[in-house]
Amino acid sequence: MTTPCIICVAITGSVPTKADNPAVPTTISEQVESTHAAFEAGASIVHAHVRNDDQTPTSDPEKFARLMEGIAEHCPGMIIQLSTGGRSGAGPERGGMLPLRPDMASLAVGSNNFPTRVYENPPALVDWLAAEMLTHDVKPEIEAFDLSHILKAGEMHRNGQIRDTPYVQFVMGVKNAMPADRHVFDFYLATVRRLFGADAPWCAAGIGANQAVLNDWAISQGGHARTGLEDNVRLDRHTLAASNAALVRRTVAVCEQYSRPVATWQQARKILGLRPQTA
Ligand SMILES: [Zn+2]
Repeated sequence: MTTPCIICVAITGSVPTKADNPAVPTTISEQVESTHAAFEAGASIVHAHVRNDDQTPTSDPEKFARLMEGIAEHCPGMIIQLSTGGRSGAGPERGGMLPLRPDMASLAVGSNNFPTRVYENPPALVDWLAAEMLTHDVKPEIEAFDLSHILKAGEMHRNGQIRDTPYVQFVMGVKNAMPADRHVFDFYLATVRRLFGADAPWCAAGIGANQAVLNDWAISQGGHARTGLEDNVRLDRHTLAASNAALVRRTVAVCEQYSRPVATWQQARKILGLRPQTA
């Protein structure tokens, strides 16, 4: 298995705070610094949310713009993926940053339960977010919290709502959504291959202790991997992760274990069919 593995670092998210782990970057300057260290450690995609001064989540386009500027300056070439989820509402404010033209944005195409609430992705909002991504030439990453989300992505591709072959991320281990179940994972993967072709790139993310589990499953099966403090703040049950970079290094070690080279940002851009880096 020699396909390079793209490592995505989800630096902040909308849930963990400094009370969970002081290393969670919440200001723009902390986020840029944390991304830079993760980039040096081997991450080629940064998945980002932004926070208010009190650490609560926001989708403020002005903050996203400052974050993109800082990452472009300190991590030239790194793929920037902004979150349109972020538990920050069910309205169009979730896509207010898309005119900034990040390389990628996350796109949830259906609803499901989250630990304490419903993760609402109503059809009209999904259609609107997908249309905005087409308009601004932003590649979606489909967040599959359920099997139906993979099939929905296929339908949207056939309808022309998603331009390229959908790039799907299997998300497992969110409480009250899909657990990290190996049989389901294998069926997800078989479904992606059946719908999008044997060579279609895909990735996976696990929440909490499942982060390491999903890294192992994805890397051993030829997929791409996500890590970072958004999904998990610990190295093991007793140890907080010192940084996003520490989690990236753990994922790099799994790549070594399975003889997968870690993708450079140039390789990652090619694998994902992204537009050339904008100046
Ligand atoms: Zn996120």
